[in-house]
Amino acid sequence: MNDKPLDEESILKVLNGYKSKDLKYEDGHILGSMCTSTHPLAKKVYMDFLDSNLGDPGLFEGTSTIENMVVQEIASFLSLDKGFGNIVTGGTEANLMAIRSAKNIAKKEKGIEKGEIIVPKSAHFSFKKAADMLEVKLVEADLNKEYRVDIESVKKNINKNTIAIVGIAGTTELGVIDPIEELSQIAVENNIYFHVDAAFGGFSIPFLKEIGYELPNFDFSNEGVSSITIDPHKMGIAPIPAGCIIYREKKFLDIIAIDSPYLTSKSQSTIVGTRLGAPVAATWAVMQEMGKEGYMELANNCLVNANFLYDALKKENFKPIIKPELNIVAFYHEKIDTNRLAELLKEDGWMVSISNYPKAIRIVLMPHIRHTHLVAFLRDLRKIKAS
Ligand code: PLP
Repeated sequence: MNDKPLDEESILKVLNGYKSKDLKYEDGHILGSMCTSTHPLAKKVYMDFLDSNLGDPGLFEGTSTIENMVVQEIASFLSLDKGFGNIVTGGTEANLMAIRSAKNIAKKEKGIEKGEIIVPKSAHFSFKKAADMLEVKLVEADLNKEYRVDIESVKKNINKNTIAIVGIAGTTELGVIDPIEELSQIAVENNIYFHVDAAFGGFSIPFLKEIGYELPNFDFSNEGVSSITIDPHKMGIAPIPAGCIIYREKKFLDIIAIDSPYLTSKSQSTIVGTRLGAPVAATWAVMQEMGKEGYMELANNCLVNANFLYDALKKENFKPIIKPELNIVAFYHEKIDTNRLAELLKEDGWMVSISNYPKAIRIVLMPHIRHTHLVAFLRDLRKIKAS
């Protein structure tokens, strides 16, 4: 550390030097991320709420009210009149909270000590973290030909220690939606907690359905759904860190509450203690400015781009894994090794990611990706194919 204070100009100069090495969403080269450019209004609001700490809500009653407003607004488009939950750091924390609730409720109501959770093989790795931290056994259910969870495999894996079933509404690698209605039925029949991870799909599926796309029912309209993860900082275009967990019943939040004696609130259910109100206020602001119509247009544009890419790749003899259900396209080429293809694309400046199951180049068509970026990307793919 420097002995003497540095002047602001020198500090900012150093920081800008580092920042200039970062990629920018606007350049359209970040093709494998589920985050995107921050909405301009969100940036302004974020700065205004930078001092607020929702870990001590009695000091920040206004911001705490905003958190509740965001939770209720999100619950409303997930078919729930009154939701219980929090704006958290992201999908990981939300999933961790859900599994904690499932574990604690199963212990209280059924006396289960060594719980097991059944997740699709396609589940995000946050469930591995949750299983490890909470010491529950992670059981992976197989996928069917469409890369959705296989219902028979889920049924087969249920036993007396099963504390939760998880379904995904927009898988991380392919963007597919699991058969939530059927999973919900299984959960009801077996009296098991059912969590839906809609971290990615939650801010687009309801709006695409509203436009007329035929997509499955993934939300609380299914009576077995106990909780939903939905991330404003993905397709909600809110700034990081903004995840959200919504519970159907208050008891799921209460069962993970820990006394917080020295703070203004009696207890805390989130994993994180001191937590920023800025992304909460910014999420609310973005949601107001977007409105239903804004999110409908956004989700539709992203899906139109995904379908354009899908069709173009097929014409170029690349093999898309599935027709996009949401805005993710994964593909490979029979004659080019996928890792090598990712490297060659990187040399041309394209930052793609690689899916594991199946192995493929994975492109997430986030709002910062424009048609012109895709045209340039396809031009470079064609060049690589010809070389
Ligand atoms: N769930 C799904 C389906 C995801 O795709 C992701 C991240 O990509 C997560 C959870 C974890 O979200 P975060 O990285 O915000 O913690």
